[in-house]
Amino acid sequence: MEHFVEFEDVCKYYQTGSVKIAAADHLNFYVDKGEFCIIVGPSGAGKTTLLNILAALDKPTAGSVVLDGRELSKVGDADAAAFRRDNLGFVFQEFNLLDTFSLEDNIALPLVLAGKGYREINERLMPVARRLGIAELLKKYPYEVSGGQKQRAAVARAIITEPKLLLLDEPAAGMNPNETEELMHTIHSVRDQFGVAILLIERDMNFVMGICEEITVLDYGRVIARGDGKAIRNNPKVIAAYLGGD
Ligand code: ADP
Ligand code: MG
Repeated sequence: MEHFVEFEDVCKYYQTGSVKIAAADHLNFYVDKGEFCIIVGPSGAGKTTLLNILAALDKPTAGSVVLDGRELSKVGDADAAAFRRDNLGFVFQEFNLLDTFSLEDNIALPLVLAGKGYREINERLMPVARRLGIAELLKKYPYEVSGGQKQRAAVARAIITEPKLLLLDEPAAGMNPNETEELMHTIHSVRDQFGVAILLIERDMNFVMGICEEITVLDYGRVIARGDGKAIRNNPKVIAAYLGGD
């Protein structure tokens, strides 16, 4: 069966002097359309490497990565930016909202950069803002809204281009448990309402506590465990990876 995202035997090696590091070591995983997939792992596990490969910012040493039927190692450097623009939405750590832009201007930014006209931007903005519950806040600036509202604005900005895959890189970093819970709620509602596939990458183990979806745990570029939050937390390999690491 063909999956929406396929990592098949993906390897990424770095050579530093005489030391060879496997940032990805025969990695296999799949994300289906509309699926919410979570990957956790300690520092150095290979999370950023995996995201970079998926975003066509980096190429694997070996193996195959397919997104929506397209082999990413065949995307040339010149096409990579267009590939990202047409296929991916990103939510970064700390959300990276621009302080001097209203929420509206923040959310519309990817469309402005893609050269869309005023009318199309307005047509797209309202439905997305409404679904994320921030339609009343569009004229406000980031410093005027709560952390949870900023989150939702960052997610709105990431999905306004209607990406096929939404990537979240450590979105819960620095959040308190309430904010993390609100973030999970937002992500679930985005998946349900927009039907987009979501890949969330996280380092913090506390984050996975209440998660009932399957979680994949990485260490040294390998999958060391899969299961729900509770199973993961009690898995001796996972505990060892976290205790041995940072
Ligand atoms: P994570 O995001 O999970 O912390 P990374 O993907 O950043 O992990 O890194 C995985 C491993 O690959 C680490 O050991 C890191 O030091 C190494 N690594 C990452 N990028 C490079 C690079 N450009 N050159 C050499 N080693 C790298
Ligand atoms: Mg990283």
